[in-house]
Amino acid sequence: MSLIVQKFGGTSVANADRLRNVAQIITEKYKQGNDMVVVVSAQGDTTDDLIAKAAEVNDHPSKREMDMLLTAGEQMSASLLAMTIEKMGYPVVSLLGWQAGFITTTDYGNARIKTVDPQRIRKELDKRNIVIVTGFQGINRYDDMTTLGRGGSDTSAVAIACVMKADLCQIYTDVDGVYTADPRKVENAIKLPMISYDEMLELATLGAQVLHNRSVEMAKKYGLELEVLSSITKQPGTIVKEITKMEKMLISGVAKDTNIARISIIGVPDKPGLAFRVFSKLSAKNINVDIILQSVGRNGTKDISFTIAQDNLKLALDLLEPYAEALGATSVVYNEHVAKVSIVGAGMESHPGVAADMFEALYGANINIHMISTSEIKISVLIDESEADAAVQAVHNKFFR
Ligand code: ADP
Ligand code: ASP
Ligand code: MG
Repeated sequence: MSLIVQKFGGTSVANADRLRNVAQIITEKYKQGNDMVVVVSAQGDTTDDLIAKAAEVNDHPSKREMDMLLTAGEQMSASLLAMTIEKMGYPVVSLLGWQAGFITTTDYGNARIKTVDPQRIRKELDKRNIVIVTGFQGINRYDDMTTLGRGGSDTSAVAIACVMKADLCQIYTDVDGVYTADPRKVENAIKLPMISYDEMLELATLGAQVLHNRSVEMAKKYGLELEVLSSITKQPGTIVKEITKMEKMLISGVAKDTNIARISIIGVPDKPGLAFRVFSKLSAKNINVDIILQSVGRNGTKDISFTIAQDNLKLALDLLEPYAEALGATSVVYNEHVAKVSIVGAGMESHPGVAADMFEALYGANINIHMISTSEIKISVLIDESEADAAVQAVHNKFFR
């Protein structure tokens, strides 16, 4: 007998037929004698619909009330799935995040899991119940509902699997694995039979939404292997694990992130301390800065440009615009219509020329690069948002043809 944790995304539980399909997958494993813990997302586009409903009544709702609202989506799908399984004649119980022991930080909208106390889950498993748990949510120290950030149900599932030392953790979604690029948007994307934690973490962080990046971070920390697969095709999926022996792929994927904005502070005095003053101001408000570019000083002044998540743009401008004069800057300008396109691959460390190949592909598609950043296993470029899809396809063609 094994403990199996399965997670089903929004498309997998979108309607009654899909729920019955998922119930079939779960009960098949249950019948073999396994303990089943199942994490669900909200049905279909429910979370987006709830966000739209909130906007109808308040354009700046508090984050606490937003979490109160959004957690309802997962409550609906969990109970509906439980009823579907009930109808098939199996013992089942659905639990909200707090009932399943999820304690999070207080950051509404983007809370982190602090602990998972699986006592209740264990009690239900001992009674041979199939346990359905709402993904994406927990409770904070004020006993308020919190959410884990968009796509956070993956992290809920991985957290349970890690804490309960599950034998298998399967993330069921609407594609049959992790591909070299988004298979819905990029022609000739290739399914990867396996991918390392580090590469998957980079891809997820750089915009491949197939897994929530924190779920990968946690799986790596606990050495938990993940399987990403489709609830519809039943094909073998992609295994995410520590890859040591296998010949590393040069490039394992291309990702795109359009939730980006660039800010430039123009004409600041070319003297020590300016970067420190700008970036400490941002970090005090928890604004993460990504790519940074500083121009060469000329006539005693220089420009500092950097990118942040678009969600933080207003906050960053509110901080920096009034501060420009104190910095001695001429102006603060920004551009929201930019995108970051990245390639990820553990093999690039030992292969010179990968960056040149990527830039050649972009040149071939007549795409201008505004900024570049690199690490051991990734190269990112900032380009115009309108060219992002063409850029991903061109870069993908270069490496995977
Ligand atoms: P779920 O609701 O199951 O959590 P998501 O929509 O969050 O599903 O994630 C799955 C989607 O991720 C796919 O439909 C696909 O369009 C997108 N995606 C982006 N990059 C990749 C990639 N490299 N491999 C697979 N899917 C990807
Ligand atoms: N329902 C949430 C979202 O749409 C969480 C998830 O699907 O993982 O972001
Ligand atoms: Mg998801």
